[in-house]
Amino acid sequence: MPIAVNVVYAVLAFILGSVIGSFLNVVILRTPEKMSIVTEPSHCFSCGHRLAWYDMFPIFSYLLLRGRCRYCGEKFSPRYMIVELMTAVLYCFSYLMFAVFQPADWWKIAFSAVLFPVLIVLSMIDIDRFEIPYWCSAVMAALGIAAIFVFPNDIVWYERLIAMGVILILFAVLVLIGGMGGGDLQLMLGASLLLGYRVFAGLLVGIICGAVYGSIKKFRDRNAEKELSERIFKLVNKWYEDQLDNGVGFVTDGKSDIIVGSISDGAPDIEWEFLDEKVWQGLPDKSALSRMLREKITDEREGGFKIHISGDRVAKVKYSRRMVFGPFLAVGIAVSWFAGSYIVNWYASLF
Ligand SMILES: [Zn+2]
Repeated sequence: MPIAVNVVYAVLAFILGSVIGSFLNVVILRTPEKMSIVTEPSHCFSCGHRLAWYDMFPIFSYLLLRGRCRYCGEKFSPRYMIVELMTAVLYCFSYLMFAVFQPADWWKIAFSAVLFPVLIVLSMIDIDRFEIPYWCSAVMAALGIAAIFVFPNDIVWYERLIAMGVILILFAVLVLIGGMGGGDLQLMLGASLLLGYRVFAGLLVGIICGAVYGSIKKFRDRNAEKELSERIFKLVNKWYEDQLDNGVGFVTDGKSDIIVGSISDGAPDIEWEFLDEKVWQGLPDKSALSRMLREKITDEREGGFKIHISGDRVAKVKYSRRMVFGPFLAVGIAVSWFAGSYIVNWYASLF
């Protein structure tokens, strides 16, 4: 194709992407609340003024209004613009990758047009709510099943299934080590159907990005985590003293146990996964401790803690903030969709 035509198509892909991205913002905000994504008109969250079409022009409205509401001047979060920009860039890049830099493959472009919105939506919802919507992984799996018929020469169907099985085994380990959850597993199972053996390149990229971010986050959060561990320690200590004084439930002298708890959506809760229930004499007053934590700790959003109890004293409390993995896995899946075969071939060439 002549260069001018390619440029026009690339610009059109960018514009289409920005419009889709603007719709994704609505999906990210409304689907977790089970709100309709169609009927309700968009309005400013601050003043409630209904937004006109020229206020919702993707990317450009945000830049023109310098990120503020035209009516009340309230600042909008730049993430709406970022979502629009990301979708636009990925649409444009998909066109370049699959129609310009190589012989045009319109199926690959059509798959990209579905895949990237799903990756962006699940990343944002995971950041907001620490969960990956089930339907996002289902769409990924549906793309994988469609790929068996659309790209029969690309990766054979049983290779996709083998990749899925290996991912299942790998995740059994990753979930045990900690950090990854069931939502991450569902996502990667869907991705393995779509990507076949290339999913491992994606997983590797995702884990590397996640580990880099994780270490930065650990360093940044170290004071907050330490302070929260101390606060929980004090509360648990008081609760345990009451337990001992009133002879309710306590750990046998010379033995120890760990109680696991978590803070989810700002609400602390004890999960009561005793590692060793037999060392307890009497049943601990679970609701009293849960209530105490819920009343006193209200300023922390997501995390997990472990309470070490040794005989008649609380030995240690360790709190760690939760980290999202979805966005990093999404980056891995995107890289693998574009360049998975190159990465796998390069890796194989090392041996
Ligand atoms: Zn407003």
